[in-house]
Amino acid sequence: MTKFNVLILGNASAAPTLSRNQTAQLINIDEQYFLMDCGEGTQLRLREHNIKFQRINHIFISHLHGDHFLGLMGLLQTMHLLGRQTDLHIYSCGHVEEIVHVHLKHAKGNIGYPIHYHTVGTDQSELVFEDHKVEVHSIPLKHKIPCTGFLFREKQKPRKVNPEGLKKYKVPRFEIARIKAGEDFIDAGGNTVPNDALTFAPDASHAYAFCSDTAYLESIIPIIEGVDLLYHEATFLEEHRDRAGQTLHATAAQAATIALKSRVKKLIIGHFSNRYSDLELLLNEAKSIFEATEIAEQDRCFDLLKSQ
Ligand SMILES: [Zn+2]
Repeated sequence: MTKFNVLILGNASAAPTLSRNQTAQLINIDEQYFLMDCGEGTQLRLREHNIKFQRINHIFISHLHGDHFLGLMGLLQTMHLLGRQTDLHIYSCGHVEEIVHVHLKHAKGNIGYPIHYHTVGTDQSELVFEDHKVEVHSIPLKHKIPCTGFLFREKQKPRKVNPEGLKKYKVPRFEIARIKAGEDFIDAGGNTVPNDALTFAPDASHAYAFCSDTAYLESIIPIIEGVDLLYHEATFLEEHRDRAGQTLHATAAQAATIALKSRVKKLIIGHFSNRYSDLELLLNEAKSIFEATEIAEQDRCFDLLKSQ
């Protein structure tokens, strides 16, 4: 794998402002694009970053509050106007298909490419997408309406061969694929050579977890444990914890506590209430519990393959 990064296209909650767009992130895994949420104006944010819309084949919508999906209809329409032919997949626990159909029905419009709607359950984490390199799992969250985060995990890589071991035990070339897959080798004399005499451990696989919107929820910890990068919403400061409780959102301290208990490598926080103009307050609150925290600043790209 040569690329695994997360571009923050917006980090606002509720209404967009001139400096903060609503939630949307573009996840690039080896040049395969995954769009995570699609707040209002996302297509303009993509244009600003010179992202070709037609390269996005998978869109994940966490839930149907407007600040997470109001940009979807516009993006689907622009893809159509640009002549898209290729299939598009949309993953959500909400009724996205119904909303798109109502819009097209009353606009007497159509979309000229196939859209596949994948319904994501909210009872437990499930595998929602996989190919030869990556798996995406849902992360059931606790919010006012059904809501899921998503975990993007690079598949385990093959073991690396130890050239000296191969030479020592005279391993023929045609056996190497099996040995990389972890199998032992039986030599010409019928002796078993253990795999770890022939290989080294594979390079680490990387993972990114997106968790928004949610109240403080410890049941996500086993799902996101040890990820390289966790995005967790931090809509409020602790001083507004009551408000967080009423709206089923998290505070910066709660996001940091989840990061700490999940032993993630790094936390980025976002989805800030517009009442805060100074985001340092949220950052400092989180850092007092989990030092490796940063703001999910709009337009910033977080690279999982670089130590951060
Ligand atoms: Zn919400």
